Amino acid sequence: MGQARGGRRRLVVIGGDAAGMSAASQARRLDPDLEIVALEKGRWTSYSACGIPYLVGGDVDSIDDLIAREPQTFRTQHNIDARILHEATSIDVDAQKVEVRDHEHGGRNYTLGYDVLHIATGATPARPPLPGIDDPLIHGVQTLEDAADLLAHAKKLEDPCHVVVVGAGYIGLEMAEAFVKRDVRTTVITRTAEPLSMFDPDMGALIGEAMRKEDIDLRTRTAAQSFERRGDKRIDVHTNNGTLTADLVILGLGVGPNSRLAIDAGIAVGERDAVKVDRQQRTSSDGVYSAGDCCESFHRLTGQHVYVALGTVANKQGRTAGTNIGGGYATFPGVIGTAVTKLCALECARTGVNEKEAREAGFEFSTVTIDSTTRAGYFPGAAPIKVKMLGEKRSGRVLGAQILGQEGAAKRIDVVATAITAGLDVEELTALDLSYAPPFSPLWDPILIAARKLAESL
Ligand SMILES: Cc1cc2nc3c(=O)[nH]c(=O)nc-3n(C[C@H](O)[C@H](O)[C@H](O)COP(=O)(O)OP(=O)(O)OC[C@H]3O[C@@H](n4cnc5c(N)ncnc54)[C@H](O)[C@@H]3O)c2cc1C
Repeated sequence: MGQARGGRRRLVVIGGDAAGMSAASQARRLDPDLEIVALEKGRWTSYSACGIPYLVGGDVDSIDDLIAREPQTFRTQHNIDARILHEATSIDVDAQKVEVRDHEHGGRNYTLGYDVLHIATGATPARPPLPGIDDPLIHGVQTLEDAADLLAHAKKLEDPCHVVVVGAGYIGLEMAEAFVKRDVRTTVITRTAEPLSMFDPDMGALIGEAMRKEDIDLRTRTAAQSFERRGDKRIDVHTNNGTLTADLVILGLGVGPNSRLAIDAGIAVGERDAVKVDRQQRTSSDGVYSAGDCCESFHRLTGQHVYVALGTVANKQGRTAGTNIGGGYATFPGVIGTAVTKLCALECARTGVNEKEAREAGFEFSTVTIDSTTRAGYFPGAAPIKVKMLGEKRSGRVLGAQILGQEGAAKRIDVVATAITAGLDVEELTALDLSYAPPFSPLWDPILIAARKLAESL
């Protein structure tokens, strides 16, 4: 099957988004002769799921704006045979074949041979088996199909209405913000003590305060137990803390790797059943690569395998796989847990490890938290910013930071991410020649103030 195509090597990519198409595009750049077939079970390729909350909230006008490249563009400009509505249903790694269902043409099945396979099937949103959870008034937000359904439903909501978001991870918060922007009464429930548990609880508590200031009804230590339809348009969300009646429910309970195809093919999985890969994104099976939300990453600070479902990681891993598939050499160096999000005016950013992760990884560390402003205190628009920073005892190495603040706060995290990646200690971070002018920062940037305090404490 492998070389039966006039000697041309064939790459089959499963998954037509970030990790799949970045690999396909990179392999094409390096190897113009490679035959590339990309299978995508949905209707879209190369889209931005990250933009879904902003589509629902009205910042982005249409679903088309979230599509970076259409299948037609891949076919005509990149010589990549992108097949939408084509779902890979099984993989035979010994025979180097993929079984495909073509949903476009009445569900016909066919077999596709490969020389190289790239698995980029993404993530599956958590959907606990609670009674009533499959009700159409309950929406996931993983794909553009989800976004289209949700938007159509949101547009039909009639005043007064109520949206309940189940889960207070970053997707839950971004969806809550979207409905606040639509002037809809919004409740967020989370089983945790504070929202956004990738932050330390002291920072999470401040995020909770900010949510309440935006009139979001945040209910912590509250878990959904079942859902029960109330007539045509409403649904009861039964929780351990009473019942909420909603017109629309959103699930933001996190994701897990969509690795079933790989597992069934006998490909090794690791952390949380994500596909195991080496630094070149090669799986345990010869000629089979994987990248993105379906596979694991390596944490540069803790030295542990981790599961991180982020677009930044998916694109970089995909490009790494594509380079190696195309005959070059690239390695993915791992992650350090950098992420940003925002809730209305509050920007939230983190990198490295938080206190819990640092303890679990066995670090001895000190922590400082400082308050400053995003611009010189006297400059119009100066707003509060809080920086928490962790440093390792003895080595003085920067281990992590979390930032909360208003416009201009979050992207400061990239300085700390760079410091961690470069292995700087806190003293070296204080010595960085960072820029200053009153419209951009106080004379001492908040990152430098935090680093200085941390250096003193260490
Ligand atoms: C609402 C939301 C907001 C987000 N915001 C951010 C953000 O701000 N920053 C950030 O870094 N990340 C963000 N992310 C995460 C980011 O979107 C993902 O990490 C990224 O899309 C992962 O890319 P991927 O290619 O690995 O997987 P996906 O984008 O999930 O793509 C996988 C593709 O594979 C297809 N597929 C699956 N199984 C098969 C099969 N058997 N056959 C054929 N096709 C198949 C799927 O249909 C899908 O199109 C967000 C995600 C969501 C849902």
